[in-house]
Amino acid sequence: MSWENIVGHKFQKEYLQKTVASGKISHAYLFVGKEGIGKKLCALEFAKLLNCFSPGENGSCDQCKSCVSIDKGVHPDLLKLTPEGETLKIDQIREFNKWIHYKPLEARYRAGIIENITSMTEEAANCILKTLEEPPPKSIILLTSSDMRNLPRTLLSRCNVLYFAPLPARTIESFLVKNRSIASQKAFSVAQKAQGSIGKALQILEKEEEPYRLIENFFDGLSSISSLLSMGSKLLASKTNLQETLSLLELYLRDLLMYSRFREKELLYFTELEEKILKTIEGKEFDEKTVYNLIENIEQLNRDINSNVNQDVALIHFLLELKEVIQGAI
Ligand SMILES: [Zn+2]
Repeated sequence: MSWENIVGHKFQKEYLQKTVASGKISHAYLFVGKEGIGKKLCALEFAKLLNCFSPGENGSCDQCKSCVSIDKGVHPDLLKLTPEGETLKIDQIREFNKWIHYKPLEARYRAGIIENITSMTEEAANCILKTLEEPPPKSIILLTSSDMRNLPRTLLSRCNVLYFAPLPARTIESFLVKNRSIASQKAFSVAQKAQGSIGKALQILEKEEEPYRLIENFFDGLSSISSLLSMGSKLLASKTNLQETLSLLELYLRDLLMYSRFREKELLYFTELEEKILKTIEGKEFDEKTVYNLIENIEQLNRDINSNVNQDVALIHFLLELKEVIQGAI
């Protein structure tokens, strides 16, 4: 991961590149900015560059022994600390302090990255402060935070603070188009809601894609009797998920009817599954009446689930009927 693989933050990347080239390395840096904009990636690339055997103008080489073992997460002189649950705890920081005081085994600099220090307890903050006040030689501490208002001033004064601005919507759009193969129009609409954060854009996308994934998983489960049985028991184990899946399935079946009548993509709920829908209605098992029956069966199944009667039998029976109808598509 050289600098060019990190989106945006031109000034910050140049600054860190020059810092390494100059050899004037501070013992601690604090990267501040919104969640999900690339602070952690920059901290990791900085640590890589510091220890790279063959650094270039654009960051680390990605090829040398040091780069490879950092990328694999197995370098003995790199430690990444993330909050356990909601907060960074004192015990975590104590362990970190111990670790950072050892001499580097292989690297020029032993690098410890602590993510989201905003979530540190007061005790933990005091504990890391001790190390920042008397930093061990040949070590570097890289901290990230999304909000520095509650951080102790003493801690801030011990770090070299670097601010990261939210990314422009257009930058996020091109990232999504390039890396997630999403149509430009959709990518831009997601980017506008993401408030400058790639992490948030990916979360929004995930949420929007959830129904599609759920339905696609459903089809995978229908591919054989054994996977059908295993899907059936999984669904039964999670009642909430079952009802959600069933209502999505009902929408999908209605899409089948709609498309078989009008062949209009705009009328579909699952527009992105148009191809699968077309394949299903062209399959030899497809029959509108059976699909209507299945929709009725879903409603019956929902009633059975709520009344706690014969859930597993009702579900498996339903799945078998469904398998018949969409056989052509899987
Ligand atoms: Zn390298």
